[in-house]
Amino acid sequence: MTSVKMEEGLSRLIETLKKHHPDADTALVEKAHAFAKKHHGTQLRASGDPYYHHPIAVAQILADFKLDTSTIITAILHDTVEDTDVTFEDIEREFGKEISKLVDGVTKLTKLELQSEDTKQAENFRKLLIAISEDLRVLLVKLADRIHNMRTLHFIAKPEKRARIAHETMEIFAPLAERIGVQKMKDELQDLAFRELHGEEYKSIINRLEYLRSSGGKVVDKIVADLKETLIKAGIKAYVSGREKTPYSIWRKMGMKNVSFEQLTDIIAFRTIVDNIEDCYKTLGIIHATYHNVPGSFKDFISLPKENGYRSIHTVVMGPDHQRIEIQIRSKEMHDIAEFGVAAHWAYKQGQQFNTDGKQYRWVRELMTIIEQAPSAEEFFEHTKMEMYHDQVFCFTPKGRLIALPRGATPVDFAFAVHSEVGRTCVGAKVNGRIIPLRTQLNNGDQVEIIRSKSQKPSPTWEKFVVTGKARSEIRRYVRVEQKSEYIQLGKNILVKLFKEEGLEMHEKDLVQVLPLLEKQDIEELYAAVGEGLMSKAEVLKAVYPDREVATKRKKLSILNRLKRHKEEESGEKKLSIPIRGIAPGMAVHFAGCCHPLPGESIVGIVNTGKAITIHTADCHELERYVDEPERWIDVAWEDDSNSAVFVGRLKLSLAHETGSLGTLANTVAKAGGNINNLRIVYRSTEFYEMLVDVEVKDVKHLANVMASLRAKSAIYSVERYVKT
Ligand code: MN
Repeated sequence: MTSVKMEEGLSRLIETLKKHHPDADTALVEKAHAFAKKHHGTQLRASGDPYYHHPIAVAQILADFKLDTSTIITAILHDTVEDTDVTFEDIEREFGKEISKLVDGVTKLTKLELQSEDTKQAENFRKLLIAISEDLRVLLVKLADRIHNMRTLHFIAKPEKRARIAHETMEIFAPLAERIGVQKMKDELQDLAFRELHGEEYKSIINRLEYLRSSGGKVVDKIVADLKETLIKAGIKAYVSGREKTPYSIWRKMGMKNVSFEQLTDIIAFRTIVDNIEDCYKTLGIIHATYHNVPGSFKDFISLPKENGYRSIHTVVMGPDHQRIEIQIRSKEMHDIAEFGVAAHWAYKQGQQFNTDGKQYRWVRELMTIIEQAPSAEEFFEHTKMEMYHDQVFCFTPKGRLIALPRGATPVDFAFAVHSEVGRTCVGAKVNGRIIPLRTQLNNGDQVEIIRSKSQKPSPTWEKFVVTGKARSEIRRYVRVEQKSEYIQLGKNILVKLFKEEGLEMHEKDLVQVLPLLEKQDIEELYAAVGEGLMSKAEVLKAVYPDREVATKRKKLSILNRLKRHKEEESGEKKLSIPIRGIAPGMAVHFAGCCHPLPGESIVGIVNTGKAITIHTADCHELERYVDEPERWIDVAWEDDSNSAVFVGRLKLSLAHETGSLGTLANTVAKAGGNINNLRIVYRSTEFYEMLVDVEVKDVKHLANVMASLRAKSAIYSVERYVKT
């Protein structure tokens, strides 16, 4: 017992802290309390209370979550820098580096909260994410701060201000709490905001709950007792309880599923907490053996946890009195994680030092994985009312750096946003660990790794799909320089060849002499004009030898047309025109046998020795083999005018081993406008055949039509694109 008489709030706080952390530095907590009290001085809350009661209340919320001493002290000090003359230097001197960094984080979050009316929300959110990723305890303090402010919201006089704070709570803070798995904080935040925003509905739900409670009598207690007895008989030690759902979750369910609540059991979730995972499944077995399960109601979040780490088994059964009851089954640890989320992790890992780098970073990484997982991140952004930020996508580098881009941005935009040099040397990209074409649009939460090659130069085709000004202007600049030197080289070659064909020798000094006549400044400009097709080579020859009959009038094709033709001829090995963008003239193209790419699909080119290019679908497994050889990657796409060509799609079919089934196959393919050009049976039994069929089609859509027609036949059991694995 301390001899000094302690204030009630402080002694309760210390008691809670010591309960969970017996060797907590309580002297430092007392020091923080005195510090906050002194510096907040005579400041008052809207309630009329001394201001420092607020930080103590915030600290109490966190102590109840079993958080560590540093978090508690951060909570006590969280408003001192923002609202008093205290500086971070003061805090660092008095309480050390860890706490001053945490207070700094909370202060930053508070600042952007205050700006939220006049700054762009998206920018705020970005900063918010960065702040969170530095140390999750910052966010936990901020959430507790918000909870206490919401609990005391009714003291604020202006209704508009109350509504704004409640909206922000509902749209930003409650979803964040959910995201990091702190169910308890989320529930309270939502309920408090709901009460402010929809007072009438809140009241009517409360009234309904009271009515159900009084009319339902002892039904909940009876069910709890029944469940307990059933489990004890089976030898399972379980803690069983019936918990009322929150008014907000009831309201939402009513709104979304259009359900009404008639019995008390409709709004109670029964919970059995057992010792370990094995007992969870045993309990489930016993409950299902004792009561009828409602079909389709069973969910196993133990084997498939939610993204925020939530684990539990949910099931609905017809209970003792033939009422539908919802039961959640979980272990003690799962329960703590469900209620406290990341806060529980802190509690479970107590005794380890948090400020050591490794541990701290593991936390960051864990949060990042949550955000990185694309579908869940998408959900996150939806839940968080991210429609507000729909003009932006937030992506991460492999090291966790956040890159904000306009919506529609591609890996190329990302690469240029990271650094100009990264953009210029970019040849491919991995998003969330998978290789994707450079033109793919990025999604919120994507982790993007840029594959680079020193020999790569920005491709003119990139300009068609990038959306950021930076990427576009850099590409243009490079392409201009690059193209000019290509045109010069090409123009020079053209002229040398022409002169040779005419039995002449080309001398640059002769060309220099006719420059004024051809209205060119210097010889490079002349070459470039010829290379680009702006000036005909015959014109140049005529300028040098005005009296000569020129033999090359037969072909009046512009250089560009010639290039195109050249490309078609060269690549026509398969007697197909290969309309692919991004491939230089003269390069042979093969279609990979592993994935059989079709027009319309995303594709990637791989350069083979001898300059031939193999085209793979962008999701082909084979591409993994080339990850370490980025110089071999080429970004390619189908040209739009590919209707004339024919491509081969390989299908894997299984069909009935019966008379006429092969006929059906051939007819169906023909009717759908396809043509079978090869067929191989890979497996045969008395029941069915399995075969590979190569079908000539126009493009991927056409193949899909053929497949759909085949699936409609009863003799054909299954049809899929064949992918070699
Ligand atoms: Mn505060």
